[in-house]
Amino acid sequence: MITLNAVTKRFGSLTVLDGLTFQVEPGEKLALIGPSGSGKTTILRMLMTLEHPSEGHITVDGDQLFHMRRGETLVPANEKHLHEMRRKIGMVFQHFNLFPHKSVLDNVTLAPILTQKVSKADAEARAMELLDMVGLADKAGAMPAQLSGGQKQRVAIARACALRPKIMLFDEVTSALDPELVEEVLNVMRLLAEETDMTMLLVTHEMNFARDFADRVLFFDAGRIIEDGPPSEIFTNPTHERTQSFLRKVL
Ligand code: ATP
Repeated sequence: MITLNAVTKRFGSLTVLDGLTFQVEPGEKLALIGPSGSGKTTILRMLMTLEHPSEGHITVDGDQLFHMRRGETLVPANEKHLHEMRRKIGMVFQHFNLFPHKSVLDNVTLAPILTQKVSKADAEARAMELLDMVGLADKAGAMPAQLSGGQKQRVAIARACALRPKIMLFDEVTSALDPELVEEVLNVMRLLAEETDMTMLLVTHEMNFARDFADRVLFFDAGRIIEDGPPSEIFTNPTHERTQSFLRKVL
């Protein structure tokens, strides 16, 4: 479903990702873990075409996300094609990124109405189902400022689901939350995993959650994958010394 082939990303002289190659299968729940600055978020941002690779190829369902021009610059594929690709992928960010001047309901309906020409009534019916799923149907008329961090993040998840993506990216979605609000967001993610066949990629510092939730874990260090396997292996029997010392610190 997703393929990265020899993907390198540089910011100026800093090489953030160094010739990465891996695939993600449909329906897989993949956790990307590793030290701060190892390039995990950059991978998600490239899948959203918010960044482009310096070298290499990324495909989603066999289609290239970026095209090479003049042998060096990688630019997003043509606009119409890009629009199609973007519909397949949703992302939830660390800092929620809700539209502050729109109600909860409008936050969830805006993208389907504007980008998929869904009628207001249909978009609202779907949004209410999603808000119900994340336990916030009663907050449909509230403004984001009236919600707790955990509630905002649950709205952000409902909003990302509104476009019915096949792939969902979660970027440290609990990092900005008070500890007592983390569990409610993780529960929504568990529910999504149970009730849909979405492919999910999550960058997380919640190691216990990654261990319970993911089918597969990639451990990154300095822009490379140094472990790739089921959580039972990576968390109990990591092969690399770097992984062992990281896990000793965070578990
Ligand atoms: P964390 O766990 O702290 O979020 P990460 O593994 O997700 O880290 P990235 O956010 O992908 O790491 O960042 C990797 C490196 O790239 C960092 O050193 C970061 O400062 C750098 N970086 C990311 N985006 C940019 C940018 N737009 N311009 C310059 N440097 C950047």
